[in-house]
Amino acid sequence: MRLADVKRPWRHPGRLSFVALAIGLGFIVWYFGWLSTEAQDLAYQIPGMLAPIAIVAGVVLYQPDNRRPWILLAVSQVLMVMGDWAWVILEHLGLELFPSIADALYLSGQALTAVAVIGLVRGRIPGGDRAGLIDALVVAVGAALLTWTFLIAPLVTDPSASMLDIGVALAYPALDVLLLGVLVRIMLAPGHQVPSLRFLLIALILMLAGDFPYAFMLLEDTYHTGDIIEITWLAASGFYAAAALHPSMREVARPTEASEGQLSPARLAMLAAASLMAPTVLVVQGVLGEAVDIPVIATGCVVLFLLVIARLGGLVKDLRATLQQRRSLEEELEHRALHDPLTGLPNRALFYERLEQALRHRSEQVAVLFLDLDDFKTVNDTFGHQVGDELLRLVGDSLRHTVRASDTVARLGGDEFAILVDRDASVAAATSLAGRVLTAVGAPKPIADRDLAVGTSIGISVGASGDTTAERLMREADVAMYVAKSHGKSGFSVFDARTHDGVVRTMGLQADLERGIREGQFELHYQPIISLESGEIAGIEALVRWRHPTRGLLLPGDFIHLAEMTGAIVPLDRWVIEEASRQSAAWGADGPTGNGRFLSVNLSPLALVHPGLVDLVASCLKRSGLAPRQLMLEITESAQPDPTAVAETIAALKVLGVRLAIDDFGTGFASISRLLDSPFDVIKIDEGLLQSMKTDARAGAIVSGVLDLGRRLGSTTIAEGVEDASQVTELRQLGCDYGQGFHFSAALTAEDLEAAVRVETAPAIWSRRSQRERISRFLG
Ligand code: C2E
Ligand code: MG
Ligand code: MG
Repeated sequence: MRLADVKRPWRHPGRLSFVALAIGLGFIVWYFGWLSTEAQDLAYQIPGMLAPIAIVAGVVLYQPDNRRPWILLAVSQVLMVMGDWAWVILEHLGLELFPSIADALYLSGQALTAVAVIGLVRGRIPGGDRAGLIDALVVAVGAALLTWTFLIAPLVTDPSASMLDIGVALAYPALDVLLLGVLVRIMLAPGHQVPSLRFLLIALILMLAGDFPYAFMLLEDTYHTGDIIEITWLAASGFYAAAALHPSMREVARPTEASEGQLSPARLAMLAAASLMAPTVLVVQGVLGEAVDIPVIATGCVVLFLLVIARLGGLVKDLRATLQQRRSLEEELEHRALHDPLTGLPNRALFYERLEQALRHRSEQVAVLFLDLDDFKTVNDTFGHQVGDELLRLVGDSLRHTVRASDTVARLGGDEFAILVDRDASVAAATSLAGRVLTAVGAPKPIADRDLAVGTSIGISVGASGDTTAERLMREADVAMYVAKSHGKSGFSVFDARTHDGVVRTMGLQADLERGIREGQFELHYQPIISLESGEIAGIEALVRWRHPTRGLLLPGDFIHLAEMTGAIVPLDRWVIEEASRQSAAWGADGPTGNGRFLSVNLSPLALVHPGLVDLVASCLKRSGLAPRQLMLEITESAQPDPTAVAETIAALKVLGVRLAIDDFGTGFASISRLLDSPFDVIKIDEGLLQSMKTDARAGAIVSGVLDLGRRLGSTTIAEGVEDASQVTELRQLGCDYGQGFHFSAALTAEDLEAAVRVETAPAIWSRRSQRERISRFLG
């Protein structure tokens, strides 16, 4: 009860119950304090008549799901009251009082009470609480033994009693014992007892507390109307009413969480007392010098003994079930620790264990196949994780069906699988297995109304115990897988120590790459692009460098390809555009990007089609203060992303007004047609083509043709890799607009370039020597 409820008891949900109990208490005080015996005879009926009305009111008020038991309870109360009325009337008429119609009404009322209560609480014990049932029986049998010995036996042995007398007299205590059993049963049932149930239990206890002494008094003929014992029955009516009037009456039958019949100390004491009833009776009869009722006591003993055995059996069974449950839980946990939940395959830990075991116990060779699905990320990104998971499951299945039963297939994590062949494992056997695996995994798999096919790259390593370790075999297979991937996907490769070093280095780089982007290890250098006509700086190209913490300064050739393979190129290129714009703004109007000079940035085709690029370029334009025409995006023409996505992005970039350059022109195949298809503003002639010009006359013809084409298309042309003055002269004659190369300047840091631009005012073409002089001058 909350404090607020104490202050306003009329607000309390159980207020009607308390009203019923208060009325009952007031009545009892009035009954015993003020009334004469005759008045008591009549007044005694009042609570019994009010109780059924209260019960029906409760049913109407709270609408419990199961009304029948409550109605039965009301009827049982009515029957008892009718019994009382019959008694009073018979007494007044001076008629035979025992046995009479009153007893019939009483007995049926009491039986109905038991039925009603059982009906009310039956739902509480859905699983059937066997332990509780047995314990209730133990108590009931113990009570029955007592009842028989001290209440029934004296009656039965009374020679004046007729069969009917005995039968009726027997029925009362028998019903009480039944009610006692029901009471104990409910009290022992696990779970929370709502107030309504508590009231019900109190009513039952009161009834029993009255009935047993009453039976004894009848026997001794000491009972009279107005006896203090009547308190119990009068109060019981109040509690029945209170039970029905409490809102929790709807929940009396609510199932409780089934817990085993635990043996609390109190419960154990009760059981011990009940099962010791037989010897107790024996002792009491011996002390009183009464005849010992051997058959009854013996029967009671046997029944109690059997019940205790049954109870023990239940406990043992519970214990065994608990142990079994624990064992299967342990097995389950162990399985989970060693298996992948998605595919059910062994996991990395178990795979290592088996591999180590194989190396320890087998003298033959052992083969490890390391599998990595090709472009699995795309499947996840395109179709969602559910489809991805399903695909992994199906791949696991096809692997399982492809290998022999003695081989181990494991999922190492993500889209990585591994196969261990620890019998007859030769390189030939392993490669033939790899071939079968490629076919099985590559077969289209029906997932969500479509057929999905996924390729896989397999690395193979073979070794024997003594020569190698599990750790080494796994690493070698991993390296071989990487080699297989780099040879084009859906293939396999056997580990070869010679390729080992290079691959391991690259793999290390891959892990470093993402961290490098996060930790700001990249920087931009800028290479001037010179107007061949005026010799002035027309623009600059930003070129990324990686200041690797252990390997020193790395050039794009060392990592751009890797970044493109892993997708890290996208964040890298975004960073490059942002950094270049920031730098341009920092230089200001007098800097390298002042005076209308352009800033050129390289973009991988992958980054080009990445969503958000156009927005990024727009915001960078704003931040850098560059006019749109001052920003140039160089796209290598050899790479081929999805053409429609490229077309859309390029169109959007055109709207922004930035310039687009086709980079390394002359290295690909479809160069000319690409040029005609796409609206590039600038053509950058590849440095390789320029080198060839020196030795190959056809290269010269091609360069001249490209420059001619550029002019016709209205494109600006830039020659890359200009290394000497003769090239400058030749390019100028051929009509090339700009030149870029070591002859003018290598890529410089932002500060060096800024200083160089300040120095450079004279319109003389930078010679390689004069450039060196200038640079050494401002470098100090
Ligand atoms: P690129 O865009 O064609 O850049 C020109 C490359 O040629 C640069 O190499 C430059 O240092 C080099 N070079 C300049 N003058 C000469 C010369 O006279 N002779 C010779 N032989 N080479 C010269 P770098 O900086 O190593 O860049 C290589 C490539 O890496 C670039 O070729 C570009 O395709 C790519 N790259 C550079 N930075 C980025 C970037 O930020 N993002 C992306 N996606 N790619 C970049
Ligand atoms: Mg470039
Ligand atoms: Mg280039």
